[in-house]
Amino acid sequence: TTKMPGSTTLEFDNAAYRGSISLNTGLFIDGKWVDPVEPDMIDIINPASGKKIAAVSLGSSKDVDIAVKAAQKAYKTTWGLKCPGSQRGKLLTRLADLMERDIDQFTALESLNGGKPFAVAKGVDLAGAISTIRYFGGWADKIHGKTIESNETKLAYTRHEPYGVVGQIIPWNFPILMLSWKAGPALATGNCIVLKPSEMTPLSALKFAELVAEAGFPPGVVNIVNGYGKTVGQAISEHMHISKVAFTGSTLVGRKILEAAARSNLKVVTLELGGKSPTVIFDDCNLDQTLKWAMQAMYLNMGQSCVAGSRMFVQEGIYPEFMEKFTAMVKAFGEATGDPFAPTTMHGPQVSQVQFDRIMSYIASGKESGATVHIGGDRHGTEGYFIQPTIFTDCTPDMKIVKEEIFGPVVAVMKFKTEEEVIEAANATDYGLSACVFSENVGRALRVAHAFESGSVFVNSAQLIECSIPFGGYKASGIGREQGEYALETYTQVKAVHVNTGLII
Ligand code: NAD
Repeated sequence: TTKMPGSTTLEFDNAAYRGSISLNTGLFIDGKWVDPVEPDMIDIINPASGKKIAAVSLGSSKDVDIAVKAAQKAYKTTWGLKCPGSQRGKLLTRLADLMERDIDQFTALESLNGGKPFAVAKGVDLAGAISTIRYFGGWADKIHGKTIESNETKLAYTRHEPYGVVGQIIPWNFPILMLSWKAGPALATGNCIVLKPSEMTPLSALKFAELVAEAGFPPGVVNIVNGYGKTVGQAISEHMHISKVAFTGSTLVGRKILEAAARSNLKVVTLELGGKSPTVIFDDCNLDQTLKWAMQAMYLNMGQSCVAGSRMFVQEGIYPEFMEKFTAMVKAFGEATGDPFAPTTMHGPQVSQVQFDRIMSYIASGKESGATVHIGGDRHGTEGYFIQPTIFTDCTPDMKIVKEEIFGPVVAVMKFKTEEEVIEAANATDYGLSACVFSENVGRALRVAHAFESGSVFVNSAQLIECSIPFGGYKASGIGREQGEYALETYTQVKAVHVNTGLII
C-alpha cells in the first residue's frame, strides 16, 4: 500500500481572517500531489510566536529529476509550441481570477508564515502577484519575432522560442509575489517550470499549486518541489535538462547558482540579488511627502526587501528638521508592532530566528563601530522574532552597517553637503539594485537619477514596483530583468531562420 501524501488544515479566528484553510503538504509534480522519494519533512514556523504551524514535505534531487521528466513531457506534448499563446493566456488569466477569489486565504497564509501585517500583505504581495499573473497572461499571444530583409534573395525571420524546462528558486521575503514574477513570464512564453519555494515559507506556493490544477493547466507544466537550497536548489541549478534558472535571494547563493550552471550545461541564469540602496534627500524636497516615502523605502516588510532604502543621505540644511520628524514617525511606526493579524499592526516579526540573530548582530556591530543608536536597536517583546525599527546616525562609509545588506528594519543615516559628493557616496557600493532621490528641482532630481548606478530609480517616491516595469540589478545586484516586456526576453531564445528565395550557386 502506498501512503497518501499529507495535508493540513489551518484554523484562523481573528479580525482579519476567520475560517479554515486546507492545504496539501506534499510535492506537486505532474499535476498530482506526491510524497518525496526519500520521505522527509520540515516544520513551518510562525515567526510571530516562534511556534510550529505545520509540517510539509521536503524533496531531494531525485524528486527534481522526476519533476524535470514530467515537465519535459508536458513541454513536448501539451505546452510549449504545442499550445497556442491564446490558450496559455486564457489559463493564466483564469489562474489570476482564482487567486483573486481566494485572496483572503492567500493573505492569511502569507501573514501566518511570513509575519506580514495582513493589510500590507493583501495590498502589496497579493495585489501584486495577481496583477503579475494577469499581466503576463496578456502577453502570451503577443510573443513574436521579426523579419529581416537583408537582400532580394533572402528572407530571414526570428522566432522567440521557449527554453523548454526552466528552474525557479524563490526567496522567503515575498513568497507569492516572487513566485508570480517567475511563473508569469515563464508560462506566458511557453516554458514548463520546476519551482522551489523557500523551505521557510512554502505555504502560499502549495495553495498556488492547487489553483494551477483547478485552472486547468496540463499536468507537468507547473511542478513545485519544496526543499532545501543545498539539495533541491542545487539539483535545479546543475540539472542537465533545465535550460534556464531564475533565482531571487542572496548574492552568496547567486554565485553558487552561476557556478553550478557553468559546471553543468551552461544554462542561462537570471539573478535578482541583494542591495544596499541609497535614499538621497535634498534640502529642496517636499518634506512631508519625503518623510512618508523614506519610511516606506526602509521599513516596508520589516526591512526584508531587496530594494530597502537602508542608506539614507540627508542634506545638511534640512537635516535637523528631517531627523526630528523622521524619528517621531519611526517611533509611532514602532508602536504599531505586534500580531500581524491585528488591524492596527504596521510592523511584524522578522521571518526566522536565523534572520533575527543576523540583524541583531548587525545592530551590535553598528554600536561597536561607533555609530549612534538614534532610536530602536533592540528586540521587541519576548516571543517571536520582532525587532524595533532602528535608526543609526553618525555613520561612516567604512562601517559594516553601511556596507552590507542587513535585510532588517535598520537604517544608516549620513549627512551630506553637495550633489557631487552624494552621488559619489551613493554609488560607493558593490550593489546597484535601486535608489531614491527627493528634490522639487526637476533638473537636479533627474540628473541624480541618471547618475545612480542602479537598475531602478524612484524620483520623489519609493518601492513602487509594478508588473509592467522592468526590474533588476546593476553591479552585484543581479543579472537580467524581470517584469514588463523585458522579462519575456529572458524566457525565450531567439532562432534565426534564413530562407533562400533565389540565390543560385
Ligand atoms: P538564500 O539566498 O539562502 O535563500 C533564497 C533561496 O535560495 C531559498 O529558496 C533557498 O532555499 C535557496 N538556496 C539556498 N542555497 C542554495 C543553493 N546552494 N543552491 C540553490 N538554491 C539555494 O537567502 P537566506 O539565507 O534565506 O537569506 C540570507 C540573506 O539573503 C538575507 O539576509 C538577504 O540579505 C538576502 N536575501 C535577499 C533576497 C532578495 O529579495 N534579493 C531575498 C532573500 C534573502
